[in-house]
Amino acid sequence: MADISAECNIRVLCRFRPLNQSEILRGDKFMPTFQGDDTVIIAGRSYVFDKVFPTNCTQEQVYNTCAQQIVKDVLDGYNGTIFAYGQTSSGKTYTMEGKLHDANGRGIIPRIAEDIFNHIYTMDENLEFHIKVSYFEIYMDKIRDLLDVTKTNLSVHEDKNRVPYVKGCTERFVSSPEEVMDLIDEGKANRHVAVTNMNEHSSRSHSIFLINIKQEHVETEQKLCGKLYLVDLAGSEKVSKTGAEGAVLDEAKNINKSLSALGNVISALAEGTKTHVPYRDSKMTRILQDSLGGNCRTTMFICCSPSAYNDAETKSTLMFGQRAK
Ligand code: ADP
Ligand code: MG
Repeated sequence: MADISAECNIRVLCRFRPLNQSEILRGDKFMPTFQGDDTVIIAGRSYVFDKVFPTNCTQEQVYNTCAQQIVKDVLDGYNGTIFAYGQTSSGKTYTMEGKLHDANGRGIIPRIAEDIFNHIYTMDENLEFHIKVSYFEIYMDKIRDLLDVTKTNLSVHEDKNRVPYVKGCTERFVSSPEEVMDLIDEGKANRHVAVTNMNEHSSRSHSIFLINIKQEHVETEQKLCGKLYLVDLAGSEKVSKTGAEGAVLDEAKNINKSLSALGNVISALAEGTKTHVPYRDSKMTRILQDSLGGNCRTTMFICCSPSAYNDAETKSTLMFGQRAK
């Protein structure tokens, strides 16, 4: 189990997407002013992060500054998690996945897939790698396997070392970046099939891509394991109190609960002095328990819209990120 009092490695990065076509047509004001490489100013107030990516930042720049190192660390046997947090349409999926099959547009996940294998090709030939991938989502507190549509309500168990995991979740061995990409495509296609409106659905569920790397030295039989969770969170927007009812309101409450559970865990970890980290308050934080805080590499992307129209949500998103500092 991770030692929670150990050095805490949480990085909080903030990314602003450009104004989109409809915001430009509506004449929305562009809100942020960027200062140095770690500060953004909105309505006279400064927010400081480990790094702030302005709207013109490329996918490659984002990857090189934040995810590249994590790949090396996971190959060195560390666990890690990368999240994207923000309101719907703030750029979470663009950051995590991007345009999956476009060399420049590719986001973090496809770049990580490629990088892992590039590293492996250059490593000691006596090392044998076993790389497994899982892909699931959490919707209304139910875990749904995206690589096997028959598994719609998986549960979280603990293994003999008390490490939580999703029991029965499909694990596929992969031996090339192409195979990883095929699995992402497969998972996304499955996700589409089960729902009527994909945009709405993806904004209300957390999607989690897990890469598990085990290496073994063929002579010494020495083993090293690392895993990396890549999480595209549900949209953080508040649902209007007057408009929402029934199922929509239930969804909103559920999302709110799981995102605040995550916020509480991250801020307890960031404080570093807390002896109690409330991992057990949600399924997601339970699953991520041994890949958050402690010796793990945790990176949170705070994704924001630059439009004055989203002012209130942007401020609340930035505040969420500040809690982790
Ligand atoms: P979310 O997943 O947070 O709901 P998306 O990632 O789907 O949001 O982004 C919404 C739209 O904005 C998409 O069309 C996406 O391509 C575009 N977009 C997001 N971030 C950027 C960016 N940094 N540069 C260019 N376009 C972006
Ligand atoms: Mg999305």
